[in-house]
Amino acid sequence: MTEYPTVASAALFERGQRVTPGGVNSPVRAFGAVGGTPRFMVSGSGPYVVDADGNEYVDLVGSWGPAILGHAHQTVIDTVLDTALRGLSFGAPSPGEVALAEEIVSRVAAVEQVRLVSSGTEATMSAIRLARGFTGRHKIIKFAGCYHGHGDSLLASAGSGVATFGLPDSPGVTPAIAGDTIVLPYNDLAAVTETFEAIGDQIACIITEAIPANMGVVPPLPGFNAGLAALCRAHGSLLIFDEVMTGFRVSPAGWFGLEAATEGWAPDLLTFGKVMGGGLPAAAFGGRADVMGLLAPHGPVYQAGTLSGNPVAVAAGLTTLQLCDAEVYRHIDETAGIVGKLASDALTAQGVEHQLQRGGNLFSIFFTAEPVTNFDQAKAQDAFRYPPFFHAMLDAGVSLPPSVYESWFVSAAHDEGALDRIVVALPEAARAAAAATP
Ligand SMILES: *Cc1c(COP(=O)(O)O)cnc(C)c1O
Repeated sequence: MTEYPTVASAALFERGQRVTPGGVNSPVRAFGAVGGTPRFMVSGSGPYVVDADGNEYVDLVGSWGPAILGHAHQTVIDTVLDTALRGLSFGAPSPGEVALAEEIVSRVAAVEQVRLVSSGTEATMSAIRLARGFTGRHKIIKFAGCYHGHGDSLLASAGSGVATFGLPDSPGVTPAIAGDTIVLPYNDLAAVTETFEAIGDQIACIITEAIPANMGVVPPLPGFNAGLAALCRAHGSLLIFDEVMTGFRVSPAGWFGLEAATEGWAPDLLTFGKVMGGGLPAAAFGGRADVMGLLAPHGPVYQAGTLSGNPVAVAAGLTTLQLCDAEVYRHIDETAGIVGKLASDALTAQGVEHQLQRGGNLFSIFFTAEPVTNFDQAKAQDAFRYPPFFHAMLDAGVSLPPSVYESWFVSAAHDEGALDRIVVALPEAARAAAAATP
């Protein structure tokens, strides 16, 4: 029996379905993979969100990453309000854009120049166009299970919602576009090497999630990312590190800061989003100055946006990044470790086979006996155990991502009180996972 009524959310979902496909504006939100009524959220504060029926949940979605400081952080909200009072958008450059670009460039050594956009999808789409423009080549390599937003050339074997709903490659993408995308298994450097040996002179770029977190969290094997960089260098291709999810979350300089920077190599281009908008629509792509210099108005590769560098979004993002100091990262790393271990211990206590996989402070659970290193293994897990686990948590006031293929997110605001509620919720959820049948 749940203490959590869903009357108001159910009514909103019904109204929504009449006027919006599936009732939602991004597919995973519809609860398709877990069933039940998606909760319509009306407010958030710190580690908690409150739905339309007034139920409060500990939030482990965090808007899929942006809520790194917790919801409605007072300083961020004050900055947003101050900025909004002076006007919402000018269609002309504004000072905050320069300051946010400077913040990104100073954090990520591989970024010499950066262009602001409004979504991660725009960032990856634009980075691909730029790589093609720079190299004069058409083909790109992506990896199965990696999600790079919903740009046409990147929807093949994608993670996130595409994986959640088990969709084949999307209708509406022409064969010509799909034909220029080569999809390879993740963590298989031999497959990448073979492809380069065969048609290296046609490959504009490799795009990869710096650490994949849209098929669950699947860390790169040691040497994999560095190997991609070396192959690109040898064949005149560019390496695009998609850090839309990991950027400014797993370290001050994202996964780049944890891996490439310490090993002494760099991707050519990087993409960012999520955290850098602080909850408003802001994203970016950047990297080598000689490559970025090809963008309009400097160069011939066109890219633009009416709301790119929007003053309010930029203010939210910049303030969020400025508040993300060493203590914030320390707290998030520690809290991620605690929550992951709590979940894993609860499942172990009920005899549920699983893997807790971590990359920096991103983590997820796979219901399988062996570590997962690629998308095929991720899809082979006992995914049927997740919906009952998810709903038992929700019924106890903990909101998890509504798909087994998504990472869990903690924030600087997740404190003892939030952890206590997770501790209380887990045993029943683990029992539900153990009792699940295919
Ligand atoms: C979320 C995400 C995107 C897409 O960003 P949107 O802002 O949703 O368009 C791209 N790449 C990665 C790795 C992501 O996690």
